[in-house]
Amino acid sequence: MTQTQPRVAVVGGGVIGVCCAYFLAKRGAAVTLLERNDIASGASGGNAGTIAPGHGPINKPGRLWQALKQMLDPTSPLYIAPRFDPQLARWLWTFSRYCTSAHLQSSLPIMGSLGHATRSLFDQLVEEEDLDCDFRTTGYYDVFRTSAGLATAKHEASAMRAVGFHPESLSGGALREREPALRQGIAGGVFYPEAATLNPHRFVLELAERARRYGATIRTGSDVDGVMPVVGRGVRLTGLRLKTGEVVEADHVVLATGAYSLHLASQLGCHLPIQAGKGYHRDRDIGSGGTPPLRVTCMLGEHSVFCTPMDGFVRYSGTMEFSGLNHVLRRPRLEQLTTAAKMYFDGVGDAPSRSEWCGLRPCTPDGLPIVGPVPGHADVFVATGHAMLGLTLGPITGRLISELVLDKRPSMDIHALRVGRF
Ligand SMILES: Cc1cc2nc3c(=O)[nH]c(=O)nc-3n(C[C@H](O)[C@H](O)[C@H](O)COP(=O)(O)OP(=O)(O)OC[C@H]3O[C@@H](n4cnc5c(N)ncnc54)[C@H](O)[C@@H]3O)c2cc1C
Repeated sequence: MTQTQPRVAVVGGGVIGVCCAYFLAKRGAAVTLLERNDIASGASGGNAGTIAPGHGPINKPGRLWQALKQMLDPTSPLYIAPRFDPQLARWLWTFSRYCTSAHLQSSLPIMGSLGHATRSLFDQLVEEEDLDCDFRTTGYYDVFRTSAGLATAKHEASAMRAVGFHPESLSGGALREREPALRQGIAGGVFYPEAATLNPHRFVLELAERARRYGATIRTGSDVDGVMPVVGRGVRLTGLRLKTGEVVEADHVVLATGAYSLHLASQLGCHLPIQAGKGYHRDRDIGSGGTPPLRVTCMLGEHSVFCTPMDGFVRYSGTMEFSGLNHVLRRPRLEQLTTAAKMYFDGVGDAPSRSEWCGLRPCTPDGLPIVGPVPGHADVFVATGHAMLGLTLGPITGRLISELVLDKRPSMDIHALRVGRF
């Protein structure tokens, strides 16, 4: 390491932190990534593995009222566990204010630009770094059993066309020709050709390994407990205090701590409005009698369940549960994944699952990520709040953070993602 290399400490070894570490290290920064568990042990390891560029935020007109109606049904796709939680109440109130057509319209251009950029970066990364992560550029289908669901999907598809994507509407018959496991009676769907699929755990591990090759130090089992100013090399720096008492000094700090972001940021007077949106997966081996061999990822529209073919198994994943920062596996919600799949596919049996899991999505009330410097702390950056699109937006977030840290300005207008906007 030379004296001129900026020292950057990245906290969090999910897809966002690893992408930040990779782009920073590739450009010559002296990176230390600190992860308290293992790499990809949070939401990034077990997600649906779908790169879905161009979709808008989860805030949709009427979305909150739909959730409130369903809130006592623990098997509904969107579930808010009833409890007294003033922070959640405030978050829901702000969320509801962003559930408007106007917000959706104003968010699409930025989500579209991020989507185009990140999709190209996936192609580049997989090819240039030779990432072994089962990357398939096969698109995905949004599949609907009802004409009402299909109409909503077509509306969303036309909004995406306006920002340069090419979703294709399909009849039920056309869908079944392409994906023969689908049952009779499917109303139709939308094909998203720009989408891709990969094994998210392998992608993050592979990219962490490439970051290491560019000189990054990856420290797992390193729980960061404090962030504070320190004086080192005769200048004011930022220090990260680990639970062990060790202090790691850095010229710049990136907080990529996902749904767990409140603790560290609040020590800098920065109150991030993040709620954990719990999602589940259940993996079934192909050939075990538990799943048909799907060709391409299908999203079961009325139930918001992704069915992703991966190496020898199908991953059923989804649901959004606001029940706080915990990893409690609620059986009815896991069951709901395969119960929904049985309504859309022939051949979904009850064979044992090879894996059952839950992970916490970092959700903001306006449905947009938070990427930028902390107000009043120019050398501390936040990269979180990617909700349902963290895998998709990982590479572009990593590149933007590397530009913010090393060039002091990003190559895209990301004002809409600034930290202090709430
Ligand atoms: C069921 C499900 C399906 C999904 N499907 C998709 C999909 O198909 N496509 C898509 O784009 N997105 C999807 N997502 C969303 C995506 O998984 C998340 O947006 C993304 O993983 C968030 O990444 P992250 O790096 O911010 O958080 P995480 O992966 O949770 O990583 C944060 C890391 O920070 C570490 N950490 C936190 N605090 C500290 C600390 N103080 N010290 C050290 N380390 C710390 C944690 O241990 C954790 O490893 C899905 C999510 C779920 C739950």
